[in-house]
Amino acid sequence: MSSANWVVDVHKLHKKYSLGWFGTKTFHALKGIDLCVKPGEVFGLLGPNGAGKTTLIKILLGIVRGSGGTAQVMGLPAGSRAARKLIGYLPENLSFPSHHTAISALQLFGRLSSVPESLIASRSRELLHMVGLAGRERELVRRYSKGMRQRLGLAQALLHDPQLLVMDEPTDGLDPVGRSEIRNLITQLKQRGKTVFLNSHILQEVELVCDRVAILAGGQVRGVGTPSELTSQFQTQGTTKIRMELIGDFQSISHSIAQVADPFESLQLPTGNWQVSFAAGSQQQLDQLIDQLRQKNVSICKLDRTQLSLEEVFLTAVQS
Ligand code: ATP
Repeated sequence: MSSANWVVDVHKLHKKYSLGWFGTKTFHALKGIDLCVKPGEVFGLLGPNGAGKTTLIKILLGIVRGSGGTAQVMGLPAGSRAARKLIGYLPENLSFPSHHTAISALQLFGRLSSVPESLIASRSRELLHMVGLAGRERELVRRYSKGMRQRLGLAQALLHDPQLLVMDEPTDGLDPVGRSEIRNLITQLKQRGKTVFLNSHILQEVELVCDRVAILAGGQVRGVGTPSELTSQFQTQGTTKIRMELIGDFQSISHSIAQVADPFESLQLPTGNWQVSFAAGSQQQLDQLIDQLRQKNVSICKLDRTQLSLEEVFLTAVQS
């Protein structure tokens, strides 16, 4: 696909924030990142706190300027008036003035986005139906649950019928039902041909809904691909975990394990047995450990080899 067709095209993008009174120091939040988002895909930006996710979103929305490199939205410079019109944005904690109903809130947001007055009412009705708020549209928004407010936020972001929907932590703070409702809505939007760019630190959410994911950490892209491509990429980096249940003296246990695994986790079970877990090394190391434990009269009640959860895999990746 030629870069002219990408919905988001970011190339060697840098962002340095000025720090201190005279801006003599800088903080390098984005260190030359490259990303592209294809039309109609749900793209997830995943990363720990401070990774630079919000900074990238702010550049795409024109809230902050990059310090180098380029960022384009459907071929237009990110932040330009024309590019902004193509984007709908659902911020992390969108708040609505407390006296508003869903209808009046959408009217307000529609006017702010210059949606023609004649279209606001019909688009609002259609969108409230889509997000499952039909029949509740005349209630005060302050009486809505967090999930309902988030769905209203989504309707607000779609009022001007944007090509690209940018969502910041869309399921944060929602219960499992609320999270699944938002995921279903994202899937519906994809079916309607919209491109969705979402920012999250919840890996399981991203995995359930995204076609492709970029992992951002320390201002750098550490990997891009489908969730399964990324998982297999990082799982080859020795991310299998060994969990053992042992009976014996803890000093002997910890001394033996520290020689093959650092760090390791330990927990005394109600039975008095010790449960230890650590990232697996080679089979030879494991054999040596078992020999050592047995020499020290430690009994091995259980030994499991488990894959790290996806969350742990990505944490490993971003810490590397
Ligand atoms: P979170 O998940 O916590 O929201 P994030 O991945 O969105 O994190 P950013 O908010 O983009 O991360 O911040 C990236 C880094 O840039 C952080 O270290 C942050 O402290 C720093 N930063 C963000 N905004 C500014 C600013 N205006 N001035 C100085 N530093 C900033």
